[in-house]
Amino acid sequence: LVAFVMFLFFLVLPLGQAVHAYTQLQSGLGALARIEEILAVPGEGADDRPAPVTARPVATGPAAVEFDRVGFGYPGGPPVLHEVSFTVPAGTRTALVGPSGAGKSTLLALVERFYEVTGGTLRLDGVDVRDLPRDALRARLGYVEQEAPVLAGTLRDNLLITAPDATDDRLRAVLDEVNLGHLAERTADGLDVQVGEGGVLLSGGERQRLAIARALLAGPPVLLLDEPTSNLDARNEAALRRAIDAVAVRRTLLIVAHRLSTVVDADQIVVLDGGRVVATGTHDELTSTSPLYRELATHQLLVG
Ligand code: ADP
Ligand code: MG
Repeated sequence: LVAFVMFLFFLVLPLGQAVHAYTQLQSGLGALARIEEILAVPGEGADDRPAPVTARPVATGPAAVEFDRVGFGYPGGPPVLHEVSFTVPAGTRTALVGPSGAGKSTLLALVERFYEVTGGTLRLDGVDVRDLPRDALRARLGYVEQEAPVLAGTLRDNLLITAPDATDDRLRAVLDEVNLGHLAERTADGLDVQVGEGGVLLSGGERQRLAIARALLAGPPVLLLDEPTSNLDARNEAALRRAIDAVAVRRTLLIVAHRLSTVVDADQIVVLDGGRVVATGTHDELTSTSPLYRELATHQLLVG
């Protein structure tokens, strides 16, 4: 019994510490709420079941993401997604647009399996995500949040989270790719400059580019990106644009788009309204076929 209690202790203690440490990574109450949401994921234990014999090995290159009549409602809440169907072909870019509350961020959460779909099927490279162990699934995905967290620590700490073995040269190259090279040059500390609490203050645009840099270092074949809604000045907007272009290389991208420049470059745009796909096409196509898209585009898509 003592051994069992000790075992429980060790099981619980590191988790508590891990949660605490992770909590410190986050800034703001919104982020805290999100962590609780993530930790309280219903069905998180669902991975205990053995992998089905039908599961195919996961390929290593870019993967297609396929929504097949996906329905979803948050636990205890009304349905927020209805029969959502579209495919992001491997190695291409799809932008999700729609009014605030349309369900855009929720769609990304479903790919990550923060929640399970309640109807239809979500597939990664043809495999139902429910048939993939969560670790295997998340190793294939990068997720850049709308409000990207910055670790209270150095620039190096913030980058090594996703690539503990990366060399300084690699870190600097990635920083250049996302237009953050100046951060490592701002002080004599170089990559050891403090960027978190009490350190160099990062703008919202810089924070998100730091998160994109982490995703680049991890190198996942599929990237889910929730663009910031805040207005960025022209320089930050251009820098974000280039950072997204950098991550798009040889990758499958699903981006919740809040800026016109993002959708114009997309291979496909999916317009979501009230949890339903109301139009799909390119910018030029949708400009002539979708009144909602036209309206969103007129307002530069800068909605929730
Ligand atoms: P969008 O990103 O398009 O603005 P969301 O995916 O965030 O929309 O939200 C879609 C719907 O789901 C909204 O009605 C929203 O209120 C609801 N919602 C979002 N997150 C949660 C949550 N954690 N719990 C309950 N309802 C939520
Ligand atoms: Mg959102």
